[in-house]
Amino acid sequence: MIAYLDNAATTRVWPEAAQAAVEAMTERYFNPSSRYPAASGAAKALEADRAAVAKALGCSPKEVTFTSCGTESDNWAVRAAAEYGRRKGKHIITTAIEHHAVLNPVAELEQEGYEVTYLQPTARGTIDLAELERALRPDTILVSMMLVNNELGSVLPVREAVQIVKRSGAPALFHCDAVQAFLKVPFTPKSLGVDLLAVSGHKVHAPKGIGAMYIRNGLKLKPFILGGGQENGLRSGTEPTAQIAAFARACELGLARRDADIAHMQELKDYTLRRIAEEVPQVAPVIEGDAPHVLALTMTGYKSEVLVRVLGDRGVCVSAGSACHRGRPSHVYAAMNLTKPQRDGAFRVSFSGDSTKEEVDALIDGLKFAAKTLFPSMS
Ligand code: PLP
Repeated sequence: MIAYLDNAATTRVWPEAAQAAVEAMTERYFNPSSRYPAASGAAKALEADRAAVAKALGCSPKEVTFTSCGTESDNWAVRAAAEYGRRKGKHIITTAIEHHAVLNPVAELEQEGYEVTYLQPTARGTIDLAELERALRPDTILVSMMLVNNELGSVLPVREAVQIVKRSGAPALFHCDAVQAFLKVPFTPKSLGVDLLAVSGHKVHAPKGIGAMYIRNGLKLKPFILGGGQENGLRSGTEPTAQIAAFARACELGLARRDADIAHMQELKDYTLRRIAEEVPQVAPVIEGDAPHVLALTMTGYKSEVLVRVLGDRGVCVSAGSACHRGRPSHVYAAMNLTKPQRDGAFRVSFSGDSTKEEVDALIDGLKFAAKTLFPSMS
C-alpha cells in the first residue's frame, strides 16, 4: 500500500479530470483559434473551462488567464507589477517565507536596483501587520504575500494586509500566491481585495503544466508572452486545451467537494496530531498551522532525509521540508528561527480530500519504527 501524504507537493489527478483531458485531445483536438465550425467547438469549450475555473475562484471568467503553472503566475505577477509601477517607485514588500517562485524574481529585481523589505514570520508562521504598516512607503509598488505557506500550513492575513496597503495610499499592486490555499481555505480574490493571484492545477487534482493568474478587472498588465495574441493578448501560445479541460473539471469537482474535503482534511490532521502526541514522543509539530492540509512536524535531532527514506521504504510518502528545495536547507525554517536540531528533523505531512485514516495509521507505524531504529545525529 502507498500512503501518499505529500499532497502539498502534488496531488493525484482525478479520473474525471484525466478523462476531460483525453476528450479534449482526441475529440476536441482543433486549434481554438482556427476558423472552421469544428474549431469553434474547441473555442467554446475553452471558454466554458475558463468559466469553471473562475467559478471555483469566485471571480469573473474575464479575470482568469491560463499559465503553465503557479511558478509562471508568480513570476509574471512580480515582473508585471514592477513594470506597472515603474514611474511610481522601486520599493517592494514581501515575506521571508514566500515560495521561491516569488522570492527569486523579487531577488532579480533587487539586483536591478529595487529595494525589498522582507517581512519576518511570527512564531505562528504568520505576519505581523504592524510590521507591514511600518514598511509601507509612498514608493512601494508591490506587496506580495502568500495566503497559505506551503511548508508550515500557516494562513497569512492577506485581507487585512490589503486593507492596510490601501489605507496607506502607497501605489502598490497586491499579489497573492494562493497556490496552497486554492480549494483548501475559502476565499475569493475580491474578498481578499488583491489585484493579482496565482493558482496551480496540480495541487488540486489536475495535471502538472497548468496554472492560472487572476488579474483584477480593469488592471492593464504588460503581456507576458508575445505571439499570436491568445489569452486576450496577455499570454500568447496555442492554449493547452487538454490541461485546461482537466483543470476545469478538477475545479468543478473540487468546488462541489470543498467544504466536505476541508472538514475531512482537518479531521485527519487532528487525528495525526493526537496519535503523535500519544504514541511518538520523539515527534512534535513545528507549528499547528490553520490550513487543514499541511502539517509541519519535526523529529528533533534526527535527520529528516533519513526519516523520509525509512518511511518511503514502507510506502509512506512525506516530504523533508518543501519538495521544491531539492535538498537545500529551508529558508522558511531558517526565518522561523528553529534550532538546527529542529530544522534537521523537520518534515511535512500533507493531506487531500482523498487521504484516509489508514494512510495516517501507516505513517504512525512508520514513525514508531523510525523512533525505535534510528538514532539522533551528533551534529
Ligand atoms: N507557490 C507555492 C506556495 C507552492 O507551494 C508552489 C509549489 O509547491 C508554487 C508556488 C509553485 O507552483 P507550481 O508547482 O505549479 O509551479
